[in-house]
Amino acid sequence: MPQPLSDRATVILEVLRRQTAPVSRTDLAAHLGVARATLTEALTDLESRALIQESTTTASTGGRPPQTFELNPSGATIGVIDVGGSRTRVGLADFTGRLLDDALLTENVEAGPETILAWAVATLNDMVSTHDRDGSSLLVIVGLPGPVDFATGEVVSPPIMSNWSGFDVRAFVTSKIDAPVIIENDVNLIALAEHRLDYPDAKVLLVIKLGTGVGGGLVINGELLRGARGAAGDIGHTQSTRAHGAQCRCGHVGCVEAVAGGWALVQTLQSRGLDVTNITDVAVLVRDGEPTASNHVRAATRVVGQAVAQAVSLLNPDTVVIAGEMLQAGDAVLATVREGVYQYSLPLATHDLRLVPSSLGPLVGLKGGAQLGIDVLVGAVHMPQLDLHTPAN
Ligand SMILES: [Zn+2]
Repeated sequence: MPQPLSDRATVILEVLRRQTAPVSRTDLAAHLGVARATLTEALTDLESRALIQESTTTASTGGRPPQTFELNPSGATIGVIDVGGSRTRVGLADFTGRLLDDALLTENVEAGPETILAWAVATLNDMVSTHDRDGSSLLVIVGLPGPVDFATGEVVSPPIMSNWSGFDVRAFVTSKIDAPVIIENDVNLIALAEHRLDYPDAKVLLVIKLGTGVGGGLVINGELLRGARGAAGDIGHTQSTRAHGAQCRCGHVGCVEAVAGGWALVQTLQSRGLDVTNITDVAVLVRDGEPTASNHVRAATRVVGQAVAQAVSLLNPDTVVIAGEMLQAGDAVLATVREGVYQYSLPLATHDLRLVPSSLGPLVGLKGGAQLGIDVLVGAVHMPQLDLHTPAN
């Protein structure tokens, strides 16, 4: 890893990443509250690292345009592997967070780490050469659908993907790509994408993912709340009185996920004679108004609504974003969650609450991975996992 950036350089990068247009030296100085001249050292350092560039955009009329700066898209490359319960995506992003490429593998996570990661790493290596990014410094983010120890990047006793428990994902990936690797929970990546790309003004943002599992992610004052070890936000395995003692795949009974997780919905609807194999099948049936599926999903979503209400009471978020494949079922899902939140939370907690569906699409995990990569590259967050990285040679 190169020398760490100065605090001033980090702030400059933070300002530039949040702007949609290049920023003049005068405006940068105003953001930092310093004189223009004092920026020279940090700007020179950032240009020499190729992290920023002078914008080539010229003013349309009159006079000499002011010198403006923007992030250099080639400054770094972020590879993202987003492992989900029933599909895995790989993407490549530039230093502005723009996705250059993405690929999809439809495979259940239970197929095991070797199968899924071998495909992901090979795909990522291909993308790096295809996009001629071999010379650019690469950072790899891996999102996993289970509890990830923040300090070490290990998956700890996952409720699903039990064949991943204890598997050293970082060692596997670094043995095939010589780059620092960060392992993160998949819903945390979604939460980061929602905050950075759609709700940067949110002070307390809660994301609920309704997919094969039910997960939660929290961004508070711009930072992911991972908890002491990385287990924060695991709303799917909180208990619900409405779950009526249903058996969960984590071993407990009465979890929210045991009723409202995609896997549980599939099991129940199959037992009632419907032809469904995954959460998308379920969502499509609800969208098309199939009565058995619609009634059951509505009841299951009330369980989610109750759990989200408890989270709202505990955290008083200003923004709750509902994400995941279940959104394909249509507006009814969001409406049922909203109903539960307003029924069970106190008025003060819901007074200015915005409860919205994610609009970032199926690549949201990749987009979030790119944002985490930028956070790390600009020096805005320190990941203890990176201290564990030793280059291959
Ligand atoms: Zn559970």
